Amino acid sequence: MDKKYVYFFGDGATEGTAKMRDLLGGKGAGLAEMTNISIPVPPGFTITTEGCVYYYRNGEFPPGLDEEVEIHLGRVEQSLDRRFGDVDKPLLLSVRSGARVSMPGMMDTVLNIGLNDKTVAGLARQMGDPRPAYDSYRRFVQMYGDVVLGLKPETEDDVDPFEEIIEAVKKDRGVDLDVELGAEDLRELVRLFKEAVKEGKGVDFPDDPREQLWGAIRSVFASWDNPRAIAYRQINNIPDEWGTAANVQSMVFGNLGDDSGSGVAFTRNPATGETGLYGEFLSNAQGEDVVAGIRTPKPIAALGEDMPEVYRELEDAARKLEAHFRDLQDIEFTFERGRLWLLQTRAGKRTAYAALTIAIDMVAEGLMSKEEALLSMEPEQLNHFLRPVFNLEQKEAAVKAGKVIARGLNAGPGAAAGKVVFNAADAAAWAERGEKVILVRVETSPEDIRGMSAAQGILTERGGMTSHAALVGRQMGKVCVVGCSDIRIDYKKRRFVALGGAVVKEGDEISLDGTTGEVLLGAFETQPSEIKRVLIDETLAPDESTVYRQFADFMSWADEARRLEVWTNADQPDQATVAVKFGAQGIGLCRTEHMFFAGDRITSMRKMIVARDEAGRRAALEELRPIQQEDFVGLFRAMAGRPVVIRTLDPPLHEFLPHEPAHIEKLAGQMDIPAEELAEKVETLRELNPMLGLRGCRLGIIYPEITQMQARAIIGAAVQCIRDGAPVRPEIMIPLVSHVNELFNQFMVVRNAADEIMDDEGVDVPYKVGTMIEVPRAALTADEIGLIADFFSFGTNDLTQTTFGFSRDDAGPFLRYYLAHNILKEDPFQTVDVNGVGLLMEIAVEKGRGAKAELEIGICGEHGGDPATIAFCHKIGLNYVSCSPYRVPVARLAAAQAAIKEPQT
Ligand code: PEP
Ligand code: MG
Repeated sequence: MDKKYVYFFGDGATEGTAKMRDLLGGKGAGLAEMTNISIPVPPGFTITTEGCVYYYRNGEFPPGLDEEVEIHLGRVEQSLDRRFGDVDKPLLLSVRSGARVSMPGMMDTVLNIGLNDKTVAGLARQMGDPRPAYDSYRRFVQMYGDVVLGLKPETEDDVDPFEEIIEAVKKDRGVDLDVELGAEDLRELVRLFKEAVKEGKGVDFPDDPREQLWGAIRSVFASWDNPRAIAYRQINNIPDEWGTAANVQSMVFGNLGDDSGSGVAFTRNPATGETGLYGEFLSNAQGEDVVAGIRTPKPIAALGEDMPEVYRELEDAARKLEAHFRDLQDIEFTFERGRLWLLQTRAGKRTAYAALTIAIDMVAEGLMSKEEALLSMEPEQLNHFLRPVFNLEQKEAAVKAGKVIARGLNAGPGAAAGKVVFNAADAAAWAERGEKVILVRVETSPEDIRGMSAAQGILTERGGMTSHAALVGRQMGKVCVVGCSDIRIDYKKRRFVALGGAVVKEGDEISLDGTTGEVLLGAFETQPSEIKRVLIDETLAPDESTVYRQFADFMSWADEARRLEVWTNADQPDQATVAVKFGAQGIGLCRTEHMFFAGDRITSMRKMIVARDEAGRRAALEELRPIQQEDFVGLFRAMAGRPVVIRTLDPPLHEFLPHEPAHIEKLAGQMDIPAEELAEKVETLRELNPMLGLRGCRLGIIYPEITQMQARAIIGAAVQCIRDGAPVRPEIMIPLVSHVNELFNQFMVVRNAADEIMDDEGVDVPYKVGTMIEVPRAALTADEIGLIADFFSFGTNDLTQTTFGFSRDDAGPFLRYYLAHNILKEDPFQTVDVNGVGLLMEIAVEKGRGAKAELEIGICGEHGGDPATIAFCHKIGLNYVSCSPYRVPVARLAAAQAAIKEPQT
């Protein structure tokens, strides 16, 4: 049998299930599953993502698709007793995109397909009123003309050609609102729209319903590759090969009068997590009107008063859907003459705060398991709990001083301040040059996403909590105030005027409180979040903070679920303390060179570098030793017996010296040596490729006294702590090893130095010596290296550099090009390149553990805090990941998710 490309849903019969998301897309799978649990959805069918992929590969629809569509169309006609293209009882269809993951507003939708001058009369008869029929017709021609035939404004500041016609007709008829236009006016609009299409695009508007249908399907498939969808995929790491499904569904009408309407609802509040239906609706309107933000909708509670029966049914459906999908749902609905239809359900996007509350509540309500709760939060969302809020006193003073110039809906919580810009391109450009900006728009559209992403906050004049700005802003974790009807924006004059008369021009500073919805004049200071205040600053008691208690519970579930340990990269005791409070279980990397830049240590370091002989070097190193030892004591104390991996000196020595003649002269004076001698030293240390030069273990091999001093300081610090009764677990790590003999050489230097200190002090220190695996040869010979090393730690920054041959310091510009042109899908310095660098890691793990089964293996490159890399590290059996202190919670959750998602054997 030929491949099946079409699946039916609705009217109690379905061919799909929620599990078929990859094939049917999120929307298609949702519709199928809603049918399965007896939720009323208008019947229709889904053309699969495979159909889209075929279309892309071959430039045409798959063979047999037309017959399959006809058969399914027949089923829809039968179940509604309406016929597509019929003059008496016309069936109208919508075609909507629906990828595997939701890409809100990025792709195309066409509604009311099947209307022409004949069928519109039948529709009018069915509706018992010509006005809504002609209203649907003009909407259809407008949408089809824009989406399928491409008649649209050329730039974002241009007026929409269809809106221009509407305005002209309204002016001519002397009316202000669209709803004041009668059937005849709407019929005239249709005629004018078609004329504009003919003039602008040189094509006749298609009257044949089937031609309309196929045009819409083609357009929906093609919209997978429109620039905004491509940009969205890049930002969200969605593969280009997935394609979108096309959902063809019978139309129901929200615009048949006051007992009809459309709305969008969340099963709980997506901003705070509070229980109870949350959303908005418009009576006498089609669904697109609600999200378009053109009319400001009413809160959903008002539906309880206007249409109590519909409201009760909606509540019922919401409960059923939540219980079935075991997650917050985002529902689109329409009621036609008092009959409720659900058009779509999907897992609702939510703020981090809502995600946390919902996860905790749903586990308590028995709707979710702890594992499901852990999966319901994006690891990156945890960052939001650490986000700044306004300094309360300043904010209150500002409120008293009348700085609040407007109020809108609090769509995305948090505090943001910056300079006002009025379009997305400016937002991106200003942010690029380091400015903090607030993007202010009448409403946002999918074209704006790059600018939204670049802005600190987003403010819109129109639209509700489910408008584009609110949905996308929330998803991006942006501070967002929408539907702020207190302001009037004038794009031409690049300014907005607030109700009280305040005039805010481009470049003026404002602040947004996304938690209250307030807009304030001036850029206000922000302050640490509640979690940070409890955990780090200790300015708030744990039991005074609900968020903290929820966070602590949630993170404890993550800890129960994960197998990977989470360590941190820290060089200073205060960093270590923060990391421990965030849950770090050890230090995976202390870069000792960072310790040499503080105070006057750099002077001793420089003395060591410029010393004329070994004796001079040793003398300078002896100055450094007590300082290093003190630093290590601080770290050991902060880590209270947790492992601390300390790396011996790594960077090329020239990094510690000045290069400008004037600076060289000054330093020579300070060091009491001739300037020429210092200049010559600087010159001899100059390397063409310092990243591949005298650095890492090579330094310690050429100058063993450096490693020796550091080993003495580490063991000396450990002795000091042990004497004070404080437990210590030092691990000494040798960088940039490529050959086992390099490690052996440094291992002996460390061991002799350690023995010497332990003998002198009469204290036994348990310590490990291990190595970084950060060049390919080390990974490939890990069986040899594993015989000597007690542990491995992947230095994926250098391993990526040396595997790709990309200089980590110079790759930025060409990597941006590579990413923009799809040569690489991801920045390999952010997410481990699984096929190349990852393969080397797998080899190293296997060979290393072959040599020493109990070998401890971790990762300390920047990738250690990246959720995708963490999943990979879990898969290949590392013991821990090490990341910067503020990423520790993200890593704990990512590690838990990796463990939960692991296929059970
Ligand atoms: C690495 O190379 O991944 C690493 C952690 O070391 P550094 O970044 O200090 O070179
Ligand atoms: Mg390195």
